[in-house]
Amino acid sequence: MSANLHDLGVAQLAAKLAAKEISSVEVTQHFLSRIKAQDALGAFLATDNDVSLAQAKAADARIAAGERTPLLGVPLAHKDVFVTRDFPTTAGSKMLENYRSPFDATVVGRLAASGMVTLGKLNCDEFAMGSGNENSAYKPVQNPWDVTRIPGGSSGGSAAAIAAGLAPAATGTDTGGSIRQPASLTGITGIKPTYGRCSRYGMVAYASSLDQAGPMARSALDCALLLSAMAGPDLDRDSTSLDLPVTDYAAGLTTNASSAIPLKGLRIGLPKQFFGAGCAEDVIKAVRAALAEFEKLGATLVDVDLPLTELSIPVYYVIAPAEASSNLSRFDGVRYGHRAANYSGLTDMYKKSRSEGFGDEVTRRIMIGTYVLSHGYYDAYYLKAQKIRRLIAEDFQKAFTQCDIIAGPVSPTVAWKIGENSSDPVANYLADIYTLSSSLAGLPGMSVPAGLGAHGMPVGLQLIGNYFKEAQLLGTAHQFQLATDWHQRKPQGI
Ligand code: GLN
Repeated sequence: MSANLHDLGVAQLAAKLAAKEISSVEVTQHFLSRIKAQDALGAFLATDNDVSLAQAKAADARIAAGERTPLLGVPLAHKDVFVTRDFPTTAGSKMLENYRSPFDATVVGRLAASGMVTLGKLNCDEFAMGSGNENSAYKPVQNPWDVTRIPGGSSGGSAAAIAAGLAPAATGTDTGGSIRQPASLTGITGIKPTYGRCSRYGMVAYASSLDQAGPMARSALDCALLLSAMAGPDLDRDSTSLDLPVTDYAAGLTTNASSAIPLKGLRIGLPKQFFGAGCAEDVIKAVRAALAEFEKLGATLVDVDLPLTELSIPVYYVIAPAEASSNLSRFDGVRYGHRAANYSGLTDMYKKSRSEGFGDEVTRRIMIGTYVLSHGYYDAYYLKAQKIRRLIAEDFQKAFTQCDIIAGPVSPTVAWKIGENSSDPVANYLADIYTLSSSLAGLPGMSVPAGLGAHGMPVGLQLIGNYFKEAQLLGTAHQFQLATDWHQRKPQGI
């Protein structure tokens, strides 16, 4: 039986643990040995069997004492931008090599309190900057569906680990698509909640007005279970966290479709800008087929307009680097992080420490960000971008007068080959076209496995909701997953 533990999702594992059919120590051991066996995928940056097994033992004791909570004893792994006391935290950067935080991120702490066991830390693009996970300072991550291809980024380690059955669930962060895009390219489910739904305390900051944590797993049900534990106000430590009560996102999800037309009355808006010439035929085909399934479930499809979609790329790639240049100024070689071994004077120490510690993409963004914020350019770039950001958010509100949920592709193509775009940063930026606008607006969005495209690679359907509508998104995705099995498809040979 234990050979197939990695085929089970979070809800199924939790049920077996609660019924004492298996122990958390057994489950944890099973995943740890798979992580070791699949090291070549590059998904993990750190594991510590003693720490994980001690947590599993503690969970088993809670189960033995009669405690029954939805996640008790189930393992997961964390993207390496969440700080953890028990594991190193690098944010995929040499700048933080061997860094150990004295505290846990709020999201990490909440999942631990719910009884989840940490399997380790997951590889990612350096400081979460990237779309292919090729910007990790340590190693690239391979896509388990085809190891010559990227898994998406920046939460590529999280996505690859779940797709390969190395963890049933993981945390991710999404600044401009980093949960949705890797979920799409590896055939798993992920949700970026409304900005502020999860605390950013203890998340290594990239672009603070955009960064948001969220769960990644095989199914919408599993994501709902995780989000219920992760979300909630944390105002003392993150003033931008939403002061709204935590919802039990799994409560509304029934395991059986209660009616033949469970999505009756749901209006799904299709922005014409998401279905244009920039999207590959195979992706459009899979997305259209998924939308036809939603129609069968009772939803109606309506055309909507998001005219500024194309501008989301330049707007995002001005605002995100601007915030990054400010956030990353803390890495100066003085307080923590890398310090150059040899230098002459303070300025030289700053310069050498930063040029040794940061990789090329991070350096590029610090330079762009510093430029657009500098006197004389601020009005022309940063301020202009902020104004368009507002217009993009307003366009979404107009669209939501015509529909309840917006749908389209997550990524314009399936996963590309490792190395194919690595010398062309702009090619990577363009791949973010369908995820950036909702991030700029702060809206919740998710990726749901919708089919297979070119080369047999997974295609994700994006669902974007209005503010605070995570429950509606998860419920809609859940109905689709009751009717289809794309989320259960697995890569061969792993
Ligand atoms: N690809 C985008 C970037 O490089 C988004 C990354 C993210 O969401 N963290 O900035």
